Amino acid sequence: MLGVMQVRYRYRIYPAPGQQQALARVFGCARVVYNDCLALRDACHAAGERISDTEVQRRVITVAKRTPQRAWLGEVASVALVQACQDARRAYRNWFDSLAGRRQGPKIRHPRPRRKHGRQSIRLTRNGFALHGGRLYVAKVGDITVAWSRPLPSVPSSVTVIRDPDGRYYASFVVQRQSTPLPASDREAGIDLGLASLIVTSDGEAIPNPRFLRTASRRLRRAQRVLSRRQEGSANRARARRRVAVLHRKVRETRLDHAHKTALRLVRDNQAVYAEDLAVAGLMRTRLAKSVADAGWSQLLRCIEEKAARYGRTFGRVGRFEPTSQVCSACGVQDGPKPLAVREWTCQACGTAHDRDVNAAKNILAAGRAERLNACGDGVRPRLAAIVAEAGTHRSAA
Ligand SMILES: [Zn+2]
Repeated sequence: MLGVMQVRYRYRIYPAPGQQQALARVFGCARVVYNDCLALRDACHAAGERISDTEVQRRVITVAKRTPQRAWLGEVASVALVQACQDARRAYRNWFDSLAGRRQGPKIRHPRPRRKHGRQSIRLTRNGFALHGGRLYVAKVGDITVAWSRPLPSVPSSVTVIRDPDGRYYASFVVQRQSTPLPASDREAGIDLGLASLIVTSDGEAIPNPRFLRTASRRLRRAQRVLSRRQEGSANRARARRRVAVLHRKVRETRLDHAHKTALRLVRDNQAVYAEDLAVAGLMRTRLAKSVADAGWSQLLRCIEEKAARYGRTFGRVGRFEPTSQVCSACGVQDGPKPLAVREWTCQACGTAHDRDVNAAKNILAAGRAERLNACGDGVRPRLAAIVAEAGTHRSAA
């Protein structure tokens, strides 16, 4: 786990007006190539035909360039088009593997075509970009000014140039970074993902979402309603769309910042952090609640995973089969389902008073420890009963 890891470093960039036009052309071409790839693969899939990756690329780039409808593809750097093909291939393959059950986690939807008004991006490998002094050289676009908010830890292997719908540009570099293990800690934590609070830990701490997120989300919903009422193609609609994009960015930035801080604290304080698997957690919540909180949860878990790898800690996802709120974390007795409104209860068997979320977090901690101990076994996931039994022994031994 320790050693060199691959991470992304993102910076805001400031392309000059001429460079913005050049980028707009590459974005447009990459988008068309991406969408053509999806359409071609769909057509072959529907016809029951197999098509090789090189043949897809040949048809949507090389052959397409010779047609009058796609001749303009020749005006931009082909490295961005080749990467668009590969992005489409990966998106298609992920969906296909998910259909065939070869992929863990939640079901993946059919990849959607890229839209003109959404976030635009191109990915470039070493032959499509370079660092010229403090500037980012992009093939056929030129040297772009970068706001270096922190130094790059190593020479980047690739870069994604992004234009957000609110008009800001970013460069996201893939770099290698050495992991920096922290001194060992003897604490471990389980975390329960919640709606009222972002998470509740097995130590009984509740970490709420930042208040700003709620106000901003409300404002965003209102702006989206306004946008939907504006007439297609009007100046008012363009302005409303920009406002939605700005609010989107603010919500995204606040959420990410909070996730980073929360994750850092959890990883610094604990040798191991365990959370429930989101695919499983999602089943236990209503669809609406899930859609509201889902983005925040998966982002937080990604942050914890990344920081755990960086600082030499353990992060484990626990797959559960039954709601852990039914099990007493002190004695392991299962005393049946409790409605969501029940926030506190006392175990009939051992008399321990429980907070619903803290009890769930404690059960996640116990299950996480048990899964970790079993990890070197035959790979078969222990059933919850076994996990709870082991947790019981742990506790009485301690
Ligand atoms: Zn009990």
